Amino acid sequence: FVIPEFSKFCSVIDDIYWMCRTNTNGRVASYIPQLSRYSADIWGVALCTIDGQRHRIGDTKMPFSVQSCTKPINYALALNELGHDVVHEYVGYEPSGSSFNNIKLGHKRKPHNPMNNAGALVVSSLIKSGLKLSDRFDHVHNQYTKLTGGEYVGFNNAIFLSEREISDHKFALGYYLKDNKCFPDGLNLHEIMDFYFQLCSIELTLEAGSVIAATLANGGYCPITGEQVLDATSVRNTLAVMHSCGMYQYSGEFAFRVGLPAKSGASGVVLLVVPNVCGIATWSPPLDSCSNSVRGVQFCEELVQLFNFHHYDNL
Ligand code: GLU
Repeated sequence: FVIPEFSKFCSVIDDIYWMCRTNTNGRVASYIPQLSRYSADIWGVALCTIDGQRHRIGDTKMPFSVQSCTKPINYALALNELGHDVVHEYVGYEPSGSSFNNIKLGHKRKPHNPMNNAGALVVSSLIKSGLKLSDRFDHVHNQYTKLTGGEYVGFNNAIFLSEREISDHKFALGYYLKDNKCFPDGLNLHEIMDFYFQLCSIELTLEAGSVIAATLANGGYCPITGEQVLDATSVRNTLAVMHSCGMYQYSGEFAFRVGLPAKSGASGVVLLVVPNVCGIATWSPPLDSCSNSVRGVQFCEELVQLFNFHHYDNL
């Protein structure tokens, strides 16, 4: 096994869990009512190793919407389908240094990277672009199911409708991108906005999220089914942008302190990848000023204090 004394490892994970539980800082996202209704007390951690050992503690069965955690997954799916050259004709690699929903372009008038809203909208437009929206959603849903090894993958229609109702800023961004020829030709903007809102409204449990992170930790092979869902290069590229851009405006500090690829979302989820070891998913709705889950970030920081998972440990 990749983690030989697994039960000892899990009891340390539980200690970190209980330590973070006492942290009551942060505020639950309120930009749509559905998110603001999540209880601040929800706190769970699930873990899956690349050889399929599992552990869970806390609220790991309750579904949450993935929100921005859809971004690395969609990026990986686009890379896997179209290859690096095509995808990066439309999107760059650089941290933007500004808020995830900023209306701003980077080098060569492309979105800075696939992890902010500009990049995510453009990447969404590339996925199965020849198909009808219904089939595109089915495709992504099927891919999620494969990445989770058959765990729960749902869809929250109230969140989708709410995202769409409160979307002026995103439409402003969408038109700005369209005006700057950031999308492929012939794009229907309203359709792509709907697609993006739907992708943010996909639901997972932490159990499912941990297997997705483990599939990324395992070079694209789902550790539960053994199926290769993503090719190794797509996974490598995805982890690289998660590492530099996955944690909003805390990405640089997170890379410094934790040294691992991760992505967080406004629902309070964090997907953390320990390459060649395991995937971890945490959920706690209260967010800090950068929009990262307070307990999720604390968990990651405590984890690398106790285990040498930081990329630059062991040199
Ligand atoms: N649906 C959200 C948005 O695009 C995602 C928010 C987030 O998780 O950062 O605003």
